[in-house]
Amino acid sequence: MNIVIFGPPGAGKGTQSSFLIKNFNLYQLSTGDLLREELKSGSELASQIDKLMNAGKLVSDDIINSLIEKKLGDKSIENRIIFDGFPRNIEQAKTLDQLLTKYSQSISLVLNLKVDYSVITKRISGRVSCSICKTTFNEFFDPPKLCSNIKCSTRTMVKRSDDNVETVSKRLKTYDESTLPILDYYSSKNIVKDVDAMTDIDKVSEQISSIIKDLKS
Ligand SMILES: [Zn+2]
Repeated sequence: MNIVIFGPPGAGKGTQSSFLIKNFNLYQLSTGDLLREELKSGSELASQIDKLMNAGKLVSDDIINSLIEKKLGDKSIENRIIFDGFPRNIEQAKTLDQLLTKYSQSISLVLNLKVDYSVITKRISGRVSCSICKTTFNEFFDPPKLCSNIKCSTRTMVKRSDDNVETVSKRLKTYDESTLPILDYYSSKNIVKDVDAMTDIDKVSEQISSIIKDLKS
């Protein structure tokens, strides 16, 4: 089955995708990985992408779609793709459906990770990491006194400059305006399952497991 893992930034999509890959023999398709993979290939398209990215421009939907189409034609991952961070808007969702149909596939499940925005803001704006081993901590939920990695003798934590309240609220606004409407589109197909993503990572994974097992049975 092909799955869309859906939710606002900071909902834990990446973490739960990793869980799905390990436990359900699925393949994670993220647009970031697709772009990096294509760049490495040295193709004609790669040099176009390289130019756009160096100019600080967004890579067009057309380019993203052609990269996705390549993956849909790959028999080795047929019908076991997790779409992570894609689609980001209604247009992309509709195009993805058209592409999937072309390869006799579909989305059979949308996992809707639900988290209050106040929690997301703390998750992202509180994120810090050990300057040596990069282990991540959170100033609100998991305050670092010193790195838990025994090899690190440092207490120095670093913070990414875009992990701040302002940037988070901008990202959430974009999500509300462009991405959230996709949920109605998928709901009309009866493939959305809500997941309470406010709890511990393991408990979120348990919910996802049981949803998938129910669908398979
Ligand atoms: Zn460390």
